Amino acid sequence: MLRKGPKQSAVRRVPKSVVSVVKGENPEELVELALGLLGGIRGIIKPRSTVVIKPNAGHMGGPDSSVNTTPAVVAAVIKAVQSGYPNKIILAESSAMGCDTTECLEVSGIKQAAIDAGVDDVRDIKSEKDLVRVAIQKPSSAIKHVDLPRFLIEADHLINVPIFKTHVSMVFSCALKNLKGVVQDHVHYVMHTTNLAGAMMDLGELLQEKTFTIADLYRPMEGFGPHSGTPVRFDCILAGKDLVAVDATACRIVGLPVDKVDFFDAALKKGLGNFNEEDIEVRGNSTQEVFQQLYMPYLDGFGAFPEYRFYVRNACSTCQGLTAFTMSKLKSLGEYEKHAGSHIILGRHKEIPEGIGDGKPIFLMGDCTKGMKKKLQKRGVECFHASGCPPGEPALAWVIMDRKELGEMSQKEFSTIGHLIRERMEREEIAFKNWLGKQQRN
Ligand code: SF4
Repeated sequence: MLRKGPKQSAVRRVPKSVVSVVKGENPEELVELALGLLGGIRGIIKPRSTVVIKPNAGHMGGPDSSVNTTPAVVAAVIKAVQSGYPNKIILAESSAMGCDTTECLEVSGIKQAAIDAGVDDVRDIKSEKDLVRVAIQKPSSAIKHVDLPRFLIEADHLINVPIFKTHVSMVFSCALKNLKGVVQDHVHYVMHTTNLAGAMMDLGELLQEKTFTIADLYRPMEGFGPHSGTPVRFDCILAGKDLVAVDATACRIVGLPVDKVDFFDAALKKGLGNFNEEDIEVRGNSTQEVFQQLYMPYLDGFGAFPEYRFYVRNACSTCQGLTAFTMSKLKSLGEYEKHAGSHIILGRHKEIPEGIGDGKPIFLMGDCTKGMKKKLQKRGVECFHASGCPPGEPALAWVIMDRKELGEMSQKEFSTIGHLIRERMEREEIAFKNWLGKQQRN
């Protein structure tokens, strides 16, 4: 995952990047102020241009969940862009693997907010047929090219509107990570099977010229991101041209040391943007003025749960996030110690991982591990599988606690026992929230 961090001594001397930081209660005023500090929207987009707005609508989460960009921030960005007299504004997203973009855009409230704000078109990148293959020059990962929707290639501007979230596989997600959502699942998959941070830099380099970022730290997420975290009232908007500088400034504002994130090392190697404080001019509020420490349980990744053994290969962040969340949930339910020593397998493994078969329980997470289940069963090794792509939020915890597989349920079965499932979920959620409150106070 991360944690070595960039070598500060090796940093190049390059022109300063400018990032605006503003704090207040009204998203529309904040976006306008943030852009005003950088010369205003007319200095960012050309009149009569085509502008693609890329929010984060990567996972299923309601408007107030901070799983996705706050709808009011997306609406504020659309209104700001309109004042630059573009020809067309397109809202576009390709949600995380295993997630349906249209559903994510609808459940998040982003689609409706965009329509209400007057967006011209809403596009699900996953279903685009007209793709253009673009070569990556000097790739930092195994990705030699990406297939991008033609409308994005032909657009004049890409306004990147990420939300700042904690993220199990990358520690945090903001400007650069959000750009990963312009590719379809097949590229997404390859990015996960290679050096993900390097692949993100490749994509960032490819798109940086037309990209400008307006980051939602209005309601960022702390805790168990990318989809099981806690929304925080932060009331901040950041804006800037340099994706890396926006990310680094956001990290400083929420108390995440950039030298703890290898992600910035990949940026340094790629020569993409600035992350050192002295290379970034912050306009508006200073980072100290708006500083608010967020709760970040992922600085050690799965290393935060040394009592379990994890085998992660090419698993996407959804399953990784759900697994890390499950570990914390087990703690909140007093179940964590009971299953210590268990093996948990995620993603696509060609072979049975070494160390499996020592008699300790084996749990398999997600449909990607179906093949592994067959392999283990063929060997006569007992294992328990949480099916789904991704599995439902409580699935892995229940499979671990009950040592019973959770299969697909028919409508008829659900109507019989659905109320029991809901009651269990409610009980566990109360226990988890109480536990989380204690962690955050400590
Ligand atoms: S099962 Fe999990 S790791 Fe596999 S594609 Fe689905 S969400 Fe990703």
